[in-house]
Amino acid sequence: MAKYDYDLFVIGAGSGGVRAARLAAMSGAKVAVAEEHRVGGTCVIRGCVPKKFMVYASEFAHHFKTAKGYGWTIEGASFDWPAFIAEKDKEIARLSGIYVRNLQNAGAELVHGKARLVDAHTVEVDGKGRVTADKILIATGGRPWMPKDVVGIEHAISSNEAFQLPALPKRVVIAGGGYIAVEFAGIFNGLGVETTLVHRGPNILRGFDDDVRAHVAEEMEKRGVKVRLGSQITEIAKGEGGLTVCCTDRHSLEADVVLFALGREPYVEGLGLETAGVKLSDTGAVIVDDHSRTNVDNIWAVGDVTDRINLTPVAIREGAAFAQTEFYGNPTTFDHDTVASAVFSQPPIGSVGLSEADARHKYGKVDIYLTRFRPMKYAFMHGDERCLMKLVVDAATDRVVGCHIVGPDGPEMIQMAAIAIKMGSTKAQWDATCAVHPTLAEELVTLREKYVPPGLGQAA
Ligand code: NDP
Repeated sequence: MAKYDYDLFVIGAGSGGVRAARLAAMSGAKVAVAEEHRVGGTCVIRGCVPKKFMVYASEFAHHFKTAKGYGWTIEGASFDWPAFIAEKDKEIARLSGIYVRNLQNAGAELVHGKARLVDAHTVEVDGKGRVTADKILIATGGRPWMPKDVVGIEHAISSNEAFQLPALPKRVVIAGGGYIAVEFAGIFNGLGVETTLVHRGPNILRGFDDDVRAHVAEEMEKRGVKVRLGSQITEIAKGEGGLTVCCTDRHSLEADVVLFALGREPYVEGLGLETAGVKLSDTGAVIVDDHSRTNVDNIWAVGDVTDRINLTPVAIREGAAFAQTEFYGNPTTFDHDTVASAVFSQPPIGSVGLSEADARHKYGKVDIYLTRFRPMKYAFMHGDERCLMKLVVDAATDRVVGCHIVGPDGPEMIQMAAIAIKMGSTKAQWDATCAVHPTLAEELVTLREKYVPPGLGQAA
């Protein structure tokens, strides 16, 4: 008789958990997955996927403006929020259903309910009783972090609720300057909502290249988002006409919706990790080694709950590496170096490798290639929209160590650039690649003149 009920028990049916569970089950292992909400996790249910639909919906206003320059007359265009939300929800339900079927087809058992560890080999699922497992994988993801010290914070929403607003607000105030704040600022602004972003720092998107940060903030403002830097929300008061938001710079703003996007926290509450002896970091993330193993020998964790790189494809690769190692006898680790990412701001960003500042810190001497120009598509628009492309090159080896794009299709282009950078290609090799014309991407292989940042002179 088997010592345990299951070979693997996965807690959380998001991107990382589902990939690990499917692969493990396909190896012949007896696998169960517990999920307290809907199958698909943050990415499918309240993250990447619905967000991208919202970005698409909101981009039409900009497309209409461009279309006008090309001779089109678009009269009476209007947007129906409830109709859009209904379509989005239908598609999300379909995708969640595919996740469920994929699990079933692989032979994994799905258990609905909140799971908690009773000890290192025992899991209790609400309303379903206790089961035992040889191996346990924690893949519970993250959830929005809301500050406790803002008066009236109960009047604010997180990104979770932003996907389900009953009506499109007229005025929105967004707190934060990270991925989520910037993406939702573009979404609401595109949909015609008066949008103000309030961020504590000197510029948005900390961690990205400084030229990218400045460029995106500027372009967002050109499109109509009000970006208030060096300020924080201290109080939200509810009145008859809506919400009044007070900020540290003594400014007050009126809004119908206040969205807080100040980061996400690992979702470990009520999991019983302490009971099982699993160690957490100061930020509440499950501490794991390169194989995603926790300090408890038979317990692993993947995805946002480990707070390494909080991106869907990373969670999937961590989950796959775990399954390969533990169920296929093929020890595998995921390389967290040089992971490309995209911010679906408007305009969007694609970025891979080091920022100029990080490259200078790491390599000392770097060569910078930078261009800002008006995308051809906007030639007939009477605006001043610019895209930006920047290459960061290690001067000693000629290796391209960073590529940053702001502009239409930047997220699509960066996937290709990531291959070249991951392969360790040199600037000379990029230059030897013939351009595809006429495209925006051709700039990446035709940048010849080194850019000297103001203030650095030739010493750069
Ligand atoms: P981020 O960590 O990206 O940004 C958090 C923002 O909140 C920062 O601007 C930060 O400012 C600010 N902040 C943090 N604490 C406070 C505070 N106490 N008071 C005021 N401001 C504060 O978090 P997000 O919630 O935007 O996103 C979470 C993660 O989800 C991302 O990091 C990313 O990994 C992932 N994600 C990825 C997406 C994609 O791939 N396109 C889309 C959405 C999310 P400061 O810079 O000063 O610290």
